[in-house]
Amino acid sequence: SADITGACSLDSPPMSEAKMPEGGDAGKATGKVGVILPDTTSSTRYETYDAPLLEEALSAAGLTPDIQNAQGDINKFTSLAQNMIGAGVKVLIIDSIDAASGAGVEKQADEAGVPVIDYDRVNLGGTAPYYVSFDNEDVGRLQAQTLVDCLDASGAENPNIIMMNGGTDVDNNAVLFMKGAHAVLDPLADEGKLTITQEATVKGWKVENAAPTFQQAFTAVNGEVDGVLAANDDIANAVIGVLKTNGLDGSVVVTGQDAGVQGLQNIITGTQSMTVFKDVKLEANAAAQLAIAVAAGTDPADAGLELAPFEDPEAPDHDLQALLLPAQVITQANVADVIDAGALSADEICQGI
Ligand code: BGC
Repeated sequence: SADITGACSLDSPPMSEAKMPEGGDAGKATGKVGVILPDTTSSTRYETYDAPLLEEALSAAGLTPDIQNAQGDINKFTSLAQNMIGAGVKVLIIDSIDAASGAGVEKQADEAGVPVIDYDRVNLGGTAPYYVSFDNEDVGRLQAQTLVDCLDASGAENPNIIMMNGGTDVDNNAVLFMKGAHAVLDPLADEGKLTITQEATVKGWKVENAAPTFQQAFTAVNGEVDGVLAANDDIANAVIGVLKTNGLDGSVVVTGQDAGVQGLQNIITGTQSMTVFKDVKLEANAAAQLAIAVAAGTDPADAGLELAPFEDPEAPDHDLQALLLPAQVITQANVADVIDAGALSADEICQGI
């Protein structure tokens, strides 16, 4: 059988240190709430997880959700928001394509008296009072730590690593993933225990650019690569495609994120080493609970939501409260955790493999 170094099976994958929220029940509320998701191509998460789970969470909370996807189009994003504001939504929940247009929408919402919750991606320099996401710096740390652990387990000495960052040009999450990863990798690089030979950015999270970007990095190092820090499953899959063309799929450690079907299949078949499972059900529920409190003008803390100040380096006066959820590493050893969490069924994961 193939060399499946890529299929790292750690007994106990590293854990997130973020605490689970207490959860809570803010009771029922009524009214429309608008949700705008960024695109359908940079990750399968928006269609697989966010849209249905937000629909469920907001409806269960007694709100009437209008969930739209801007399909990567900033003008569409803005006009969707304007329509929702015009339709009288009580709260707007936005997962922006980029922070500038997100902040623009926040300004318009502000003027109309509609509170905004930044969902998953924060709009730095914006005005939204609330932010619900995961501990994104920790996501990057988990990716890098698992990469290192998998390389250790494979016995690679001073392994060569290529970093494939996400859309750091548009998304603060991508910046935080990168920051978290560097916090783990840089000290080891300084000690001569690994080498980051290339670091590239998939601008705008545009997945069609992922394979060419990786191909370029791969060629620049003459194909000498032991591990790839890929920011999410979709980038990982593009990387795996290039590795496959070169007969290297399954023998290079590749990270990911989102626990998408393709990512999990790649883990099972041994071409991807890990993914980060961010339980979007928790994120959608938190956003729904927060939306109720915000719509009712009550203190989210009364609903058991533990918010903490989040610093906005681009607007020091921006009073932003965040709820950041813990993420979890998935390797071959614990794919079942994704099923146990109710995110996907075994059938959905195994279809076609
Ligand atoms: C999200 C990731 C996603 C990426 C690309 C990030 O903001 O947190 O889950 O993979 O965007 O859409």
